[in-house]
Amino acid sequence: MIKKYLFSENRGLRLSENFTLSEFVCADKNDEVLVSDELIALLQRVRDHFGKPVIITSAYRTASHNKKVGGTSKSYHLTGEAADFVVSGISPARVGYYLDKLGASGIGVYLSSGFVHLDVRSKGKWRGLISSGKEENLSEYFPTLYKGKRGNSVRLLQTLLNVDADGIFGNQTREAVKKYQRENDLDVDAYVGPLTWSALLDS
Ligand SMILES: [Zn+2]
Repeated sequence: MIKKYLFSENRGLRLSENFTLSEFVCADKNDEVLVSDELIALLQRVRDHFGKPVIITSAYRTASHNKKVGGTSKSYHLTGEAADFVVSGISPARVGYYLDKLGASGIGVYLSSGFVHLDVRSKGKWRGLISSGKEENLSEYFPTLYKGKRGNSVRLLQTLLNVDADGIFGNQTREAVKKYQRENDLDVDAYVGPLTWSALLDS
């Protein structure tokens, strides 16, 4: 359910254990704020799971502010159903992976800028991996990867392995995968399937 608040009448209002209304106010300081209950519940689960501060960088947006920051006209930020955030010290890929397991409906992992977009759209699902303006809408959030594969999912893998993130699964990435698999008692086959992904992303 989406709730409407006037910030001037609800200063200091706590929405859950770790979130206050002030974090969801539009950056243009608009007094009216829209916030979805489901969104707060998911954010609190992220906070509890990682045990680290969740820093909201953008939540509710008025139409004029949304336009100013280049948001799409149907952005879920306009209805209080979306938040962009960073979990302190945690890779956005790990946060996206956790939200995927929770079944969240809209998840965007922004690799180069390092934040996560979460929304609670009621129709359909969106899984976006975005890097340098390029988006891949993956049918499977973490597809099986091997030598020769390209794209943002490879870039994400490379980020997690601390190798050059050029988006091309070549020899350097292959060696890094094998080393990781050896060190983590996985089959050393240089294929990044569900087991290797979950080892890389779970905690
Ligand atoms: Zn967003």
